[in-house]
Amino acid sequence: MIIVQKYGGTSVADLDRIRNVANRVKATRDAGNQVVVVVSARAGVTNRLVDDAKALLPHPDSREMDMLLSIGEQETIALTAMALHALGVPAVSRTGAQVGIRTDQEFTKARIVQIDGGDIKQQLDDGKVVIVAGFQGVAPSGDVTTLGRGGSDLSAIAIAKAVGADVCQILTDVDGVYTADPRVVKDARKLDEISYDEMLELASLGSKVMQARSVEFAKKHGVVFEVRNSMNNNPGTIVKEEVASMEDVVVRGVAVDKNQTKVVILGLNDQPGTAARIFTALSQANVNVDMIVQNVGRDGVANLTFTVPADDAFKAEKAVENIRDVLGPKLKVMTDRVAKVSVVGIGMRSHSGVAAELFTAFAKAGVNIQLISTSEIKISVAVDVDKADEAMRVAHAAFSL
Ligand code: ASP
Ligand code: MG
Repeated sequence: MIIVQKYGGTSVADLDRIRNVANRVKATRDAGNQVVVVVSARAGVTNRLVDDAKALLPHPDSREMDMLLSIGEQETIALTAMALHALGVPAVSRTGAQVGIRTDQEFTKARIVQIDGGDIKQQLDDGKVVIVAGFQGVAPSGDVTTLGRGGSDLSAIAIAKAVGADVCQILTDVDGVYTADPRVVKDARKLDEISYDEMLELASLGSKVMQARSVEFAKKHGVVFEVRNSMNNNPGTIVKEEVASMEDVVVRGVAVDKNQTKVVILGLNDQPGTAARIFTALSQANVNVDMIVQNVGRDGVANLTFTVPADDAFKAEKAVENIRDVLGPKLKVMTDRVAKVSVVGIGMRSHSGVAAELFTAFAKAGVNIQLISTSEIKISVAVDVDKADEAMRVAHAAFSL
């Protein structure tokens, strides 16, 4: 079998952990498998590089940023190869470009447009373990790009697809995907399986187990994968296409994202085209907007509220300020940090009353709801950051997860 194993930052944090990875890879290979390893930067390295860059200037050039950030993974591939050599296992490291991870030109959040795998297959057939740098690709210009924070997950799934892997494992510092963050919710449970759509919602809602874009890619290309612990041999969580029985569970999990900013725009001209202008400006600035609430206009003025990832708040504010002339003479923009708490489950499609149950539970606990948004399989509520953990516990208990 061809097995792709992806090890995250905490699993390669220091030399002992890297030796642990090498031992696991050796065991997998000794069992008769061909192994491709995808690694992240060592825990904290990418953040440290970001901090260094921002200490020099607040908004560094994104091409230079990728040149910088890509080195974290390159350190890990070489060290992992050496750790395998120390065990007598033939292994070779490869950069993203070397395995043909071709992306667009969007530095810091590049999209994969094509991946051919380079010489991975040949190296495997020669008996080697191939260790690939996650998180990075190469733009048409030849420049190194990165795939967005947490992008090593995407690298692993894309490589699993490219080499036609039989198994793709995402090895991390938890046993799998939980019904809620076990550090916050004491009785959170590990799930044996979850559908792509639920995982996608949980990932994009900030339950940080995996990068959302990697789940999107897995769904699109039908790559089944398992999230499991790199420090033990417990079975993990299988992420796959949904099967009918999954609908029996109404709420699969609860997630919280504390990194949201609420942008409130007051004094907008109440006329056709205003919202179009704002959201066009935001999309041109590459800002992902999430919850949107527009109030009923009065006396020719309207208010609009939306949420964006906190990192994009500066860009969002600037984009709106830039077109203030066409938006209204009394325009006022305010921002405020919020947390988004969400309940997710494909069973919501066929069960009613989930919103009522959730809001009642929040009311009893005295959690104030600032904004609400829903989709077919989720309900999200923006709350005070201070109330986020409590809101998560309340929601978890309300659906007896
Ligand atoms: N090192 C990158 C990050 O910290 C990519 C990854 O870990 O997946 O975001
Ligand atoms: Mg990661």
